[in-house]
Amino acid sequence: MKKISKLLFLFIFIFYFSIGSVKAASLKDLSDNTFYKMSIEEKKNVIIEIVNDVCLDLGIVNVPNVEFYNKPGQGVRAYNSFSKNTVFVNMAYFNDVSIAINNLVTVDYYLVNTIAHEVRHSYQNEHQNDGTEFGNACKQNYANYIEYGKDPEGNLWQFVEIDARDYGKKYADKKIKNGWFKKNDLNITAIADDGQLFNAANYASRYPDVVTVLGCRPSVLLKHYNTYGIKEGRIPN
Ligand SMILES: [Zn+2]
Repeated sequence: MKKISKLLFLFIFIFYFSIGSVKAASLKDLSDNTFYKMSIEEKKNVIIEIVNDVCLDLGIVNVPNVEFYNKPGQGVRAYNSFSKNTVFVNMAYFNDVSIAINNLVTVDYYLVNTIAHEVRHSYQNEHQNDGTEFGNACKQNYANYIEYGKDPEGNLWQFVEIDARDYGKKYADKKIKNGWFKKNDLNITAIADDGQLFNAANYASRYPDVVTVLGCRPSVLLKHYNTYGIKEGRIPN
């Protein structure tokens, strides 16, 4: 072996291992608040990983492509195009932490749930002609699909949407149980006016009466504790 090729070999060897040792963010790295801290590329990788994992879970043969777009205020987090075999993901919704906090869940939970929901539609599509009861119900529903824009309530309560919603929640909850990520995004602590440690998640779960009225934004809950909670003898953590 000539010296030059030895050098080249060494170079490739080092290059290979330095790339290999860079740990890419993955679905398994999701935990409280990690998703929104990721780079755009990492986020996309994680989403593609979720799609692949859901396909594995459901035994989907024709794995859908994933495309990303950014439309804040569209009201749509993601959608599935059967004709393009593509799940379109509106990143505007997964870059905004407040949406998830307002719903008492993590962005991660929201994301995993949404992606599982959309991929479930691919599963429904694949089974439309398999002759099973489930397949027939999907086929019948898709032939008379109610668009959200035309009838939001009707859209929500049709068979394929109920099924996709159920699956999305089940899949996300299963991943939480497996320890892939945590559901609660409110483990935010602060020092309250009385000097005690305030924990928004604990305060929210201790006092659902407060959450019912004020919602569960940590800053609002802290303000409630400082203004009323201290006087009322509530526990801040
Ligand atoms: Zn849906």
